[in-house]
Amino acid sequence: MEDWSWITLVDESSLRQKKMPRVIRLIATAPVKPAPGQPCNGCGVCCAAETCPAGRLIFRRRAGPCPALAWDEADGRYRCRLLTRPGAHLGWLPAAWSGAAARIFARWIAAGQGCDSDAEVGDGKPE
Ligand code: SF4
Ligand code: SF4
Repeated sequence: MEDWSWITLVDESSLRQKKMPRVIRLIATAPVKPAPGQPCNGCGVCCAAETCPAGRLIFRRRAGPCPALAWDEADGRYRCRLLTRPGAHLGWLPAAWSGAAARIFARWIAAGQGCDSDAEVGDGKPE
């Protein structure tokens, strides 16, 4: 059984939901979200809050958590399954194309480019 932490998104200017603070649920041992521009540490905040353009196209939803967001226990961080196991969400994808698909998704979501989320997180727990 996983331990979870509940995090209030204080500033959702990037999430287009400025009026209502939202609470997201993440694994308790997930890393703390870094400042925008810092290296991505896999905290999972962005993808728990809302889907990226790739996620919107594939899963037809804007609201998070994204179905492709997966906790990597060994590395202690969240990862995008569209990169690690694209076939898990794209059942029609031939196994031989998996690597190419992962590379395309990595470019699309700008993986490795640093944190591009300006969501501000608080300590919040649901009241
Ligand atoms: S990066 Fe991956 S897990 Fe995150 S929202 Fe996009 S598709 Fe979903
Ligand atoms: S892009 Fe930022 S918010 Fe998203 S997982 Fe990486 S560090 Fe966390």
